[in-house]
Amino acid sequence: MWREALTRSNLAEVDMSETDVVIIGAGHNGLTCAAYLGMAGLRVTVVERRGVVGGAAVTEEFHPGFRNSVAAYTVSLLNPRIISDLKLHDHGLKIVERRAQNFLPAPDGSYLLTGEGRTRQSLAKLSERDANRIDAFNRELEVIADVLRAFVLRAPPNLVEGFGAGAVREAFNALGTANILRRLSLDQQRSLLDLFTRSAGEILDERFETDLVKALYGFDAIVGNYASPYAAGSAYVMLHHAFGEVNGKKGVWGHAIGGMGAITQAMASAARGHGADIKLGAGVREVVVERDRAAGIILDSGETIRAKYVVSGVNPKLLYTRLVPADALPPAFLARIGNWRNASGTFRMNVALSTLPSFAALPGPGDHLSAGIIIGPSLGYMDRAWHDARAQGWSREPVIEVLIPSMLDDTLCPSDQHVASLFCQHVAPQLPDGQSWDDHRDEVGDLMIATVDKYAPGFAASVIGRQMLSPLDLERQFGLLGGDIFHGALTLNQLFSARPMLGHADYRGPLKGLYHCGSGAHPGGGVTGAPGHNAARVILSDHRKLFKAGV
Ligand SMILES: Cc1cc2nc3c(=O)[nH]c(=O)nc-3n(C[C@H](O)[C@H](O)[C@H](O)COP(=O)(O)OP(=O)(O)OC[C@H]3O[C@@H](n4cnc5c(N)ncnc54)[C@H](O)[C@@H]3O)c2cc1C
Repeated sequence: MWREALTRSNLAEVDMSETDVVIIGAGHNGLTCAAYLGMAGLRVTVVERRGVVGGAAVTEEFHPGFRNSVAAYTVSLLNPRIISDLKLHDHGLKIVERRAQNFLPAPDGSYLLTGEGRTRQSLAKLSERDANRIDAFNRELEVIADVLRAFVLRAPPNLVEGFGAGAVREAFNALGTANILRRLSLDQQRSLLDLFTRSAGEILDERFETDLVKALYGFDAIVGNYASPYAAGSAYVMLHHAFGEVNGKKGVWGHAIGGMGAITQAMASAARGHGADIKLGAGVREVVVERDRAAGIILDSGETIRAKYVVSGVNPKLLYTRLVPADALPPAFLARIGNWRNASGTFRMNVALSTLPSFAALPGPGDHLSAGIIIGPSLGYMDRAWHDARAQGWSREPVIEVLIPSMLDDTLCPSDQHVASLFCQHVAPQLPDGQSWDDHRDEVGDLMIATVDKYAPGFAASVIGRQMLSPLDLERQFGLLGGDIFHGALTLNQLFSARPMLGHADYRGPLKGLYHCGSGAHPGGGVTGAPGHNAARVILSDHRKLFKAGV
């Protein structure tokens, strides 16, 4: 119906368009946006610089016969509504739960093993007091995580100047937001304020006495967050990792059979099924701006694709400092986005293993090997890791999550062998004294393997192949500036109504016809699909208005 309407348009730019929408980047958010827009009848073209879809959610062979998720490696945040709307299960997606959630070995031989029916008993061996407190803490987190869930699939209130239609729309949005918050008791609102502003370290020290249980939550506060667990705002990052679910179970993490690429392959299949054209090996060189309006894109090949709506799935700083001509942007906007903070402090490895690791704290095989294994036994250890990385580029004792997806998935490698993801923190996005990651990748990769080996002797000897991605590699390979896994740090000044900037939290950029659908928009990073979903809704609403306005 809309397409028919467009052909009757008297708007010159509509008549000249080759497509209704061009989406920059086939990351999972670009694909989600494409699928929703295609479903609504728009003609969608997605242009992706790499030769595969998926962005940071991809599966690739990294050693002959061994495949694994290259960057993102574990699933929870992917929104159930998006799974259902896009019928991702019909497109081949299968997500399974880990048999145990987390395993934290300590150097003294003690450990914590968490998961349904396990956490309390395991914690009680370390501290009866903490075991009696953990359920209450989980409930406190869960109430606030539910608030986040209520906000995930809606645009946050956007700040607008003046009293026009936009101001009225945002006033209603602010009322809706207030209504969600009003459901909380006063005490819960205090808890929300704490979790949005304080450090995870302080909150955890107040609740618990055992290092391992603090480290369990503390890991979520520093993962992808180049900061100490004692940094203000780190409690929010902890919460950000708690709003997900797997197959209806809240707060649980799982595995996509075939790796994270299975999610984006299913999304691409859904988008194509709704008519989207996905062009691979098609990097965007420039966004075409005409009369203050985004009118299309120019590819690296020189080809121009004109479109009524240009939607960006890339990091906002990349979009505005490299792809949109500087003279098309308000100088104040350009100056501010130039200061967008990108810094995750992560180093990502995949290893092919001849055999399963055996941990000194809990030797031999078992369900704990299907868990997220956290090497980082205390908040003090995590704090030192950050200080080290700030001072010398990487931690002497890094924090590592080891995940062995082949414990749950036999499609990744030969049946008698295994693959493991190592997600390592902290490393400096840029090394001190002008040093390059190209000169230190191997040395840091060796350190990561040696660190796991301290807890699981023999691990280093079992490594028969490895892939390493420093922050510089993440930037080169995926366009993740500074290696930032979230397209911009999850700090209070870059969240909610301020993501990517006050005045642009509604997925609309500073030029007409330009939209944001990537993780640099609310609700931020993680394989959620939410920014893609929310951007599609805003684009469709603008499209309908155009239709009503005399088309
Ligand atoms: C190492 C690592 C580990 C992570 N672990 C997890 C995890 O376990 N679980 C989780 O939920 N999240 C995880 N994340 C975060 C999550 O993967 C990202 O937040 C999310 O995938 C980003 O999706 P996106 O679609 O917004 O952007 P991206 O996936 O970054 O997609 C953007 C796309 O744009 C393309 N592009 C860039 N420039 C251009 C251009 N000029 N022209 C055309 N295309 C371009 C890129 O190639 C890319 O395909 C991790 C991320 C990393 C890097």
